[in-house]
Amino acid sequence: MVETHRTPQATWVEVANQLTLELGTLLNLDALLKKLAQRLTELAGAERALVLTADSENETLNLGAITGTQILDARGRPKHIFFPTHNQGDDPIIARWLRGEVYPVANGDLARASTLASLAQAAELTVFFSVPLLIEHDLIGVFCLDNPSSHAQIQPDKQTLLSALAPTIAVILRNAVQHSQTTRELDDKVNELHRLRQIDRELSDTIKLRHVFDVTLDWAMRITNAEAASLALYEQDTDELRFALELGYPPPNDQIALLRSTYGGGIAHRVARSGRPEVIPDVSTDTDYVAISNAMHSHMSVPVMREDRVIAVITVESRRFNAFTDAHLDFVEKLSARAGVAIDNARLFSETAREREKLSHILGSIADIVMVTGQDDRLILINQSALAALYLYPERSYIGQLFPEVFDDTPLVSAFHHAKVMGQTMVEEVILPNKRTYHANFSYNEKIGWLIVMHDITPLKETDQLKNELVATVSHDLKQPLSVMNGYIELLQMNQKINPLGDNYIRMIQRSIQNMQHLIDDLLDMAKLETGVQIEVEAVSIKQVIEECLENVRQVAEAKEMRMDVELPDDLPRIAGDFKRLLQIFNNLVGNAVKYTQPEGHIIAKAERTTHSAVQITVQDNGIGISPEDQAHIFDRFYRVRRAETDTIEGTGLGLAIVKRLVEMHKGQIGIESRLGEGSKFIVTLPVFPDVDPRQTQSLPPAPPDGDSDY
Ligand code: ADP
Repeated sequence: MVETHRTPQATWVEVANQLTLELGTLLNLDALLKKLAQRLTELAGAERALVLTADSENETLNLGAITGTQILDARGRPKHIFFPTHNQGDDPIIARWLRGEVYPVANGDLARASTLASLAQAAELTVFFSVPLLIEHDLIGVFCLDNPSSHAQIQPDKQTLLSALAPTIAVILRNAVQHSQTTRELDDKVNELHRLRQIDRELSDTIKLRHVFDVTLDWAMRITNAEAASLALYEQDTDELRFALELGYPPPNDQIALLRSTYGGGIAHRVARSGRPEVIPDVSTDTDYVAISNAMHSHMSVPVMREDRVIAVITVESRRFNAFTDAHLDFVEKLSARAGVAIDNARLFSETAREREKLSHILGSIADIVMVTGQDDRLILINQSALAALYLYPERSYIGQLFPEVFDDTPLVSAFHHAKVMGQTMVEEVILPNKRTYHANFSYNEKIGWLIVMHDITPLKETDQLKNELVATVSHDLKQPLSVMNGYIELLQMNQKINPLGDNYIRMIQRSIQNMQHLIDDLLDMAKLETGVQIEVEAVSIKQVIEECLENVRQVAEAKEMRMDVELPDDLPRIAGDFKRLLQIFNNLVGNAVKYTQPEGHIIAKAERTTHSAVQITVQDNGIGISPEDQAHIFDRFYRVRRAETDTIEGTGLGLAIVKRLVEMHKGQIGIESRLGEGSKFIVTLPVFPDVDPRQTQSLPPAPPDGDSDY
């Protein structure tokens, strides 16, 4: 037989190879330990094998597997048997194992090896053969073999074989331990990721600050196995720490609050100030510690940061000493990073909600209509006044609906379209279904959309109407006595002989009556124009108008020795207008030019076609001129320039207001260019009467684009 020639070494190598093949592929540590124990039992021809594995981190030896009867705890689960290996130099058995000595243990040895007592007792070990498994002085594990029924020691040749197998078994065991450790670490990582994802979900689900605190502390306690926890908010600027939530402490909340206010924030406050987490294994060693419950022995506080600022502190406490590991700290730090974001979000949300509530309160209580639409024309805000004025249902929400759909039967829609076409801020007068008149201001904001604010101007309109009626009545009633006075003065002049002084008095009375009549005429006119009188449009020759106006002032102008020039091209198209009203416009402008120009001055009236559809007429003088500040007001009613030069000039301040209104009624425009002391130029643009002679049109140069005017 081949076997008889084989050396023991050859057999060991073969067994070792077999073991490696058989066990080296087993990566599950428990399965490997069981199999190993079984194979060792067979190889040793023993009744039983025990495999102990070394935990290098905790410096313990743990019973990993045992063949035969299992050792169970009180609840019937496999009992966790372990004993320390550090500082066990005096324990004769452990000392040997650490040195790597194979050792047949006898009963007497065990009596001296107190460290092993728990194992010896649980497994009823008496006489056994032990082989330590070392790799480069590191104890990986130990296996023991015994015969508990016969108490016989293992055969010497088997002892030799088992000793020879030790290095191979050590490698197999180390590989399996490392693999299981890696798997465990990987599992832990996956679990942690899973938990963090869940935390993220729970925290992002809430916008309530209190809920954020609850979720945070709940997770902190669950993961660290802490019995109590608290969360305090920190104001870095004022160094104020306010405990917002306390969980798991036996004293009632008011008592905790009292303790906090009496003793302050303790370690949590220290952590808030430093921004660094602290783990206190035994709170009795820390003088800053504030005991909310005397039952707590270890403590961990972790700062919650937002952009380099501490905004809160998470604290967990345990009844056990040294309860918090690096892994716990690492986890709570990750939790605190998430809590920071959630606290910030919740705070921002509640701040925004508060602001929104405030705003909606303000908007709800103002009388003006306020509406806002987004870029898509959908309503994003509508206040109570709007609902009431537009007869909308107060309990219904119109948010998100299209503006044109909500207001489809009101003039608001066309005003809105108009504003959109103009693409900028626009003010329009609209009458709403409640029969009231509003000043509607449409303004556009690139980031929001359209903001519509409407102010009820009905009272102003009514007052205006009343005023106009009053002016009309009063003016009429004033005119009549003036005519009577005029008549009697004429009679007086005809029938009485009056001396030169009396003549002078009569002329002054006549001038005053005339001024009064002008004022009344202007007032009547203004009132009429404001109540919306219509003009009768026909084709008017502007040449005829200007010439007639100049004729009207010729006498006065000649008296002042003024020069009057007219530049009117022959092919000037006719204007779409009301002859009498156009006469009124230019009588005023030419009259003013004569009035506000010194003797020997110069007046030029010009007209030219500026675009296909517009004629521009200018009345220019080299008179006293108007300052830029006054230019802004001269078209206002009753505005008169107050200067030394104008003191002696009579007027009502209504002329230009009437002119402006009349020009607008003709769909024209009026502007002014003037310099103080140099003269003024009034520029009026009026529309061409559309029914023009086609031959005239053809002879015109190409028309510039509409609106192309000099000012
Ligand atoms: P008034 O009856 O006072 O002339 P207007 O409304 O016609 O009232 O004019 C308003 C003011 O504008 C006048 O008081 C005057 O100071 C100024 N003004 C009008 N036209 C001229 C002008 N051509 N040159 C200088 N000032 C003028």
